[in-house]
Amino acid sequence: MDPFADTLRRLREAFSAGRTRPAEFRAAQLRGLGRFLQEHKQLLQEALAQDLHKSAFESEVSEISISQSEINLALRNLRAWMKDEKVPKNLATQLDSAFIRKEPFGLVLVIAPWNYPVNLTLVPLVGALAAGNCVVLKPSEFSRSTEKVLAEVLPRYLDQSCFAVVLGGPQETGQLLEHKFDYIFFTGSPRVGRIVMSAAAKHLTPVTLELGGKNPCYVDDNCDPQTVANRVAWFRYFNTGQTCVAPDYVLCSPDTQERLLPALQSAITRFYGEDPRSSPNLGRIISDKHFQREEIFGPILPIVNVRSLDEAIDFINRREKPLALYAFSNNKQVVKRVLAQTSSGSFCGNDGFMHLTLDSLPFGGVGASGMGSYHGKFSFDTFSHHRACLLRCPGMEKIYSIRYPPYSPRKLRVL
Ligand code: NAD
Repeated sequence: MDPFADTLRRLREAFSAGRTRPAEFRAAQLRGLGRFLQEHKQLLQEALAQDLHKSAFESEVSEISISQSEINLALRNLRAWMKDEKVPKNLATQLDSAFIRKEPFGLVLVIAPWNYPVNLTLVPLVGALAAGNCVVLKPSEFSRSTEKVLAEVLPRYLDQSCFAVVLGGPQETGQLLEHKFDYIFFTGSPRVGRIVMSAAAKHLTPVTLELGGKNPCYVDDNCDPQTVANRVAWFRYFNTGQTCVAPDYVLCSPDTQERLLPALQSAITRFYGEDPRSSPNLGRIISDKHFQREEIFGPILPIVNVRSLDEAIDFINRREKPLALYAFSNNKQVVKRVLAQTSSGSFCGNDGFMHLTLDSLPFGGVGASGMGSYHGKFSFDTFSHHRACLLRCPGMEKIYSIRYPPYSPRKLRVL
């Protein structure tokens, strides 16, 4: 017995009937999503506290208000984003109409992880709904309390003929992936990203993969160690280090390390007190299993010594392309050199993940850290097929007939 077949059939029928296409319908879904966030903010904050010991401040800035501002942006711009985009024409198409139409893919699957369980489900959902798709949402089974709110409360705010939340871990998600979707948006580990991409390949389904990776943070000798330490400590320990764009290691000279270590200790003590375990501001690792695994996805910050900027750049370039890369220096040229001589999904000079606060920037990886991007209008474009359209003039056959055989040297000259 296939537990997903009925749900998927229902959603496909709604899409085929054109239910999700009108702008009014899309806007109503987005407004419903906004109401869900407003009316259940406290419930979500409590769920995030139960799952990750997330403070109300971190829940607000990195989960709830970021989702709300994506909704607001999409609502403000929906009609402009949906508009056909006129494109330049050549001599042969002067009398015609040429444009790109953004059309919904159809049935979209969004698979989310547990570390930002509201943000990483709802922000892609905003893009998928705005683009006029039917959506199946699969939250993570590890963030159980948030998963419960998303499964039990969220559907009441959306049209259930076009939207469904499905639950499960690897086995159920594997079963779900046997079905054909028209687009799959996955956020999670590179290991599972490969599983998702293989399953999608069987149906030739396009994917966005938002994956992980080890994000370097170069700290130049020419810097104020306390300012750097404050910024690095904040974004390393935010969500207890369980952030895909957090710096995974610092690259600096032994001299800078000596100045940085006491500054980091001072920042950590100021942020979380003498006994961080009793701090209401420090979260928790999601589960024992995640605590035990080797991969560092938590509040640990290795420091790797390098003798020069060249060595740091070489160290970065010998590894997989990271999701994010950071460089700290009072010398702008140093920051610009790191930017110019490396590659990563995103880059921020002299701070942590502040680039994520700009919905005018795409968010996504490159190489092993992922493919595709979203946020703001990039989300709408990700969930839309860009259909190339040319509407030809039905007359003018005499002029157009120059392209037909029999060909001749004269016809070639006219071209
Ligand atoms: P994960 O890959 O284990 O799980 C992600 C989702 O895939 C979950 O919904 C899970 O149920 C499902 N899943 C797990 N195993 C599966 C399988 N075998 N077949 C099908 N589906 C399966 O990731 P996670 O532990 O939930 O999240 C942490 C990872 O996500 C880290 O590697 C982190 O770097 C990455 N991440 C990336 C971003 C980004 O935006 N690029 C954001 C957050 C987290």
